[in-house]
Amino acid sequence: MPLPTHVILKELRKLHLRRFQEPVDEELRGWNWDKPPIRPRAYLGLSVIDAAPYCPTRRDVWLRKAVKVPPELNEQLKVGLTIHEIIHATLKCLRKYVLTTQHPWTTYEDVLEEVMKAVNIPEGMNGWGTQLIKYMIIQTLAEASWNVVGEGATPWLPWISEVRVDGSSLGLSKNLRIDALTGSNILVDFKMGKPCENHKLMVTAYAMALEANLEVPIDYGIIIYVNGVNDSLNIKSEPIYVTSELRKDFIDSRDEVVDMLLSDREPPKAQACIPSCPYRNQC
Ligand code: SF4
Repeated sequence: MPLPTHVILKELRKLHLRRFQEPVDEELRGWNWDKPPIRPRAYLGLSVIDAAPYCPTRRDVWLRKAVKVPPELNEQLKVGLTIHEIIHATLKCLRKYVLTTQHPWTTYEDVLEEVMKAVNIPEGMNGWGTQLIKYMIIQTLAEASWNVVGEGATPWLPWISEVRVDGSSLGLSKNLRIDALTGSNILVDFKMGKPCENHKLMVTAYAMALEANLEVPIDYGIIIYVNGVNDSLNIKSEPIYVTSELRKDFIDSRDEVVDMLLSDREPPKAQACIPSCPYRNQC
């Protein structure tokens, strides 16, 4: 796991206090999908990035959904996709070994070899990409042992990765994919680059989609930022309490996108574009 359980528990303690001081307005729970303000004006099967876009004028969504321009696979996107591939391939591979009696060191070597073969790491992130695989294996093996209680107990992985959820009742896609969910229902989203306001809205969208499906409150998320230079890996986390305010912001953002697409109105170019926008050459 990219974050040890004791770190997550420490973060959770701070969030409990916030939740106590500012409880979530029950009207804004995802299970109220059939009533305003959660009920969408139209069911357009938006992705989470469509409903909480990076572009200040939402022109990226218009290009993608109305003009059908595919995003350009730029360096930043490639690195982001590789980080996700590494994390999911490592967890998938470890799940095979964690229930065996194989020595942890042999497991480390076997998983490292398998993941290195399975993932094509771009040249620029060879060093820190490999460090990420090693770090994930060591953390996960340590967590699996940490969770064993009593002699003869079975090790288990405290996270499930690549969780599928149906977001259609909120006007989102039927096939949303959440990076991971911890045993204590904390939603985990991996990102690269710098923290950005729409990352919190994306976590909120996933939390509300889970509430709509599971009918249990999902109040917490953690965004894990994975970055690196040469051989040096940098992992930071940002715990999120999915407040009423974030929920309203997500609903407003989704509704503005729906209105823009229904009106077929071309949004203007943004005055300040994000450097990594995959539409820079086609906008
Ligand atoms: S290039 Fe700028 S205006 Fe165009 S979609 Fe990207 S951020 Fe928006």
